Amino acid sequence: MAAVVYRGPDDLRLETLPVPRIQSGELLVKVAACGVCPTDIKKIHYGTVPPPRVFGHETAGTIVKVGARVRGFRVGDRVALHHHVPCLDCHFCRHQAFAQCAGYKRTGVTAGFEPAGGGYAEYVRVMPFVLAGVVKIPQRNTFLEGAMLEPVNTVLKAVKRLRLLREDTALVVGQGPIGLMFTKILTLRGIKVVATDLIPSRLKLALKWGARRAFNAGQPAMIHKIRSVYPVLDAAIVTVPSDAAVLDAMEMVRGSAQILLFAHTKKGGSASMDLSSICLEEKDLIGSYSSDYTLQKEVAHLVFSRRLDVRPLITHTFPLKETPAAITLASKPSPNSLKVVVVQ
Ligand SMILES: [Zn+2]
Ligand SMILES: [Zn+2]
Repeated sequence: MAAVVYRGPDDLRLETLPVPRIQSGELLVKVAACGVCPTDIKKIHYGTVPPPRVFGHETAGTIVKVGARVRGFRVGDRVALHHHVPCLDCHFCRHQAFAQCAGYKRTGVTAGFEPAGGGYAEYVRVMPFVLAGVVKIPQRNTFLEGAMLEPVNTVLKAVKRLRLLREDTALVVGQGPIGLMFTKILTLRGIKVVATDLIPSRLKLALKWGARRAFNAGQPAMIHKIRSVYPVLDAAIVTVPSDAAVLDAMEMVRGSAQILLFAHTKKGGSASMDLSSICLEEKDLIGSYSSDYTLQKEVAHLVFSRRLDVRPLITHTFPLKETPAAITLASKPSPNSLKVVVVQ
């Protein structure tokens, strides 16, 4: 089968690999769509994990083989995969910190080599410990929608970390595909959203996706402008890996507000801040990483009912052999690009 193999930093090669062989507790899935995710881009660009690997974890496809001991799935089922499933039993799981669970950190979907998602290949093997995360895609929905479950899950998980009440106001920094999902999901929950981005077309989209106001983060005195319209912000969600944006957000929110970091996944960042804002003003600086598999049903309902219609987010699709071009576009978005997906 064809697969795009990571051979080192910024080195992806189209290679021929054997179709994965499955064991009795596993599924073989023919990949139809796999989203390009910023976390994979970072691994590929900075070479943070040893090669070789086949990345791609936002995967949807069709089951072509079912292991003898697997129940509940049939050949022909259209499914969305979940590559991480927590044990639900360890210290972290008992504290709902699933992304820190050792079992969760194991990747259970692979096209070969060290498991890394495998969605940039024709077929993937789904291991027993992630079967619980496999979701069937309803007839009327597309593989592209199925491939969006994972990113939507990460956003919903983060939203649930915020103690916001209806009518509260939240600042969403960055209106890429993730930021727009935050804007929409918060709006659906009755939260007023103030959006910022550097790209004017994304500001227009933010308004379409429910934001009350959208401000260009590149203009001077942006903080001032936002403050004059929204003097009170109850939360800020930073969906871009900008340290300055975190400090701005810390300054802009009111006492007792939460500032949630969603994109600071690269180690080594630092910032100096007035710590009394945390002690005296009780502002909480929190983060959210990856998904929560216990939300998968709610996520599937949100996406497949199209209450959160993810289809307009997918602006570009690329065939498998052009995966490197897909990753380049996703890492340097054009004014009209949002979510980039590899399709087969
Ligand atoms: Zn992802
Ligand atoms: Zn656990």
